[in-house]
Amino acid sequence: MARFEIPDGWTAQAYTFALDPTPTQIRAFRSHAGGARKAHNTMLAAVKAVMNQRQAERTYGLDEDELTPALGWSLPALRKQWNARKHEVAPWWAENSKEAYNSGLDALARGLDAWSKSRKGTRAGKTIGFPRFKTAKSRRSVRFTTGTIRVETDRHHVTLPRLGRIHTCESTRKLARRIEAGTARILSATLSEDSAGRWHVAFQVLVHRAVAVPGHVGEGESVVGVDVGVKADSLIVATPDGRELDRVPAPKSLTAAQARLRVLQRRAARQRGPYDPSTKTKRRPSKRWVRQQRRIGRTHAHAAAVRRDVVHKHTTALAQRHRVIVVETLNASGMRSAGGSRKKGLNLALADAALAQIRRMLDYKTRWYGSTLVEAGRYFPSSKLCSGCGRRKSNLTLADRTYVCDHCGLTIDRDHNAAINLARLGETHRTGATGTGTGSSPAATVSGGDGRGATRESATTPVVNAAGEEASTRHQQLLGESGTVSSEGEAA
Ligand SMILES: [Zn+2]
Repeated sequence: MARFEIPDGWTAQAYTFALDPTPTQIRAFRSHAGGARKAHNTMLAAVKAVMNQRQAERTYGLDEDELTPALGWSLPALRKQWNARKHEVAPWWAENSKEAYNSGLDALARGLDAWSKSRKGTRAGKTIGFPRFKTAKSRRSVRFTTGTIRVETDRHHVTLPRLGRIHTCESTRKLARRIEAGTARILSATLSEDSAGRWHVAFQVLVHRAVAVPGHVGEGESVVGVDVGVKADSLIVATPDGRELDRVPAPKSLTAAQARLRVLQRRAARQRGPYDPSTKTKRRPSKRWVRQQRRIGRTHAHAAAVRRDVVHKHTTALAQRHRVIVVETLNASGMRSAGGSRKKGLNLALADAALAQIRRMLDYKTRWYGSTLVEAGRYFPSSKLCSGCGRRKSNLTLADRTYVCDHCGLTIDRDHNAAINLARLGETHRTGATGTGTGSSPAATVSGGDGRGATRESATTPVVNAAGEEASTRHQQLLGESGTVSSEGEAA
């Protein structure tokens, strides 16, 4: 599939706004999303039918050129086929923008392409299954790529093709200002409904951004390590010399939302759910249960929004204040700590999700502000190393909130200790860079790839720790198999 090339000096970015549509507009949104689903499912069924037909014909011993011609899988081919069928399968098609059907077909074309590449082994990552039919429960969404897509000058409305002016819950000023200044261009808009039943529009925008704005002049420490607490609700920032710069606890509103979630979930557990434990079969859930699930969804959405807001503020501050920011790497395989128990699986999944979000934001923000994001190697035991003497503690469990070194007797908060170790890793990174004479080149180590902040780091840079005399070779082993600071595991 042809890929759109982003011109130099521009970056692609999304601006999402929560919408406040009228009931009529909601009906129109649903109709459009339904149209996308119809086009997707109709053409998926057609593609499958032809595949099965060809398969059957092969078993009769027909030659390849005698088979029923295959259906094209490209978007234009699917669109052509859809246009030939739509009068029959969707006589109401004219009610919606053609973009509705197009987005369903586009999703199908991408899905088929991914599946076939995955099957041939030309696609990296997990094995991709054959596209599935979208059901009434699938997330509703439509993508608009042509027509009138606009952010209104009043900063409280957006305009989409066929749907017209839609009121937004929040001000669109950030995007509107950029568009007025000519430093942003809207490429497309995706309208979607979240699990809480709220509609959002996400504008995919090309933004002209002066890269490497020197935000960190004089202020702040140049190298910091950032540890995400095991409870996934706190951020601890420390310097290589062991000072704790910042500790961000979970916001009160988030704790409240989580408490509410627990109550709701307990209540839902007592209601008639879709699974009958006595017969171990599926059943029709009660209306109360369904309503309860919707409430849970809304609370989840609220908690996520609160957390996102907090994380945005802190990652911006980090990227603006410090030159090098070191974070743990994601734990793709689900084993954050060898000493951790399976029971903590959910908490760890949450911690990983929180870390993924922080890392994602830091990745692009460090590029905006000219700082560097370094990821510790996957096997770097940031929480197990003693920040005092550099020894490694093997019997540290997730329950241990305080790190007590058996060797030097250091007693320190677990997350603070981890943050210091991470910061020291960044120190190496920086001295390594100056050693080669490049100075602190902004975002120099953030390579392109999939844009997820892969870092290049010399494997030979010795790690100097507080004890000083600790041999670098020791740490080379600790740095992980390759001894490099690298990014792995795209779990996000
Ligand atoms: Zn120690």
